[in-house]
Parts: sequence; structure tokens; C-alpha cells
Amino acid sequence: MDISQPPRYDLGFPCRNVACREARHPYPACPHELLHQVIDPPLPPGVTPPSALRAALHISKLEKEGRLEHVRAPDMRWIWLVPPIVVLLFLLMLF
Ligand SMILES: [Zn+2]
Repeated sequence: MDISQPPRYDLGFPCRNVACREARHPYPACPHELLHQVIDPPLPPGVTPPSALRAALHISKLEKEGRLEHVRAPDMRWIWLVPPIVVLLFLLMLF
């Protein structure tokens, strides 16, 4: 499948199920979704997956060592200037 081209839905919908052997189906949902659930069953509620436990341990270890940096959101206050600038440009185009 060429990912540089937009998907052609007349050929069918590309299947996103990793356990499915078919590349496309005539409808968006995979009919073999049950097979995917057998291979990778969803966890019952209240059970933490081992990968999440490992991640939490790693984060707490980094916090203890002081190597976890705070991620700050970029300052986006300038976005409030966009509507008045658009209005000004529109008025400049008129006159
Ligand atoms: Zn499928």
C-alpha cells in the first residue's frame, strides 16, 4: 500500500486489525475483530498492565534522581492577537 496516496475507499476500507490477514474489507469495521481479542484480550478492570507498572516505576525513579524535567506548555497568548489582525487586514483591503 502506497501511503503517499490517499486511501481509495472504492477498493474497500484498509483493515487496522493487526491480527487480520485481509488488507481490506468492504466496510470500515474488521469482521475478524474477535480474533484480535483472542490474541490480545482486554484487561479486566482494576488490573494494571505490566507496561504501565514499569512506566510508573521508571518515572518515580527519575523523580527520585531529580532527572525528570517539568514540561511547560509554550506561551500561546499571542493567539489572541490573530482575530484583531485579521480584522485589520480585512479593513486595509477594503480601504
Ligand atoms: Zn480485518
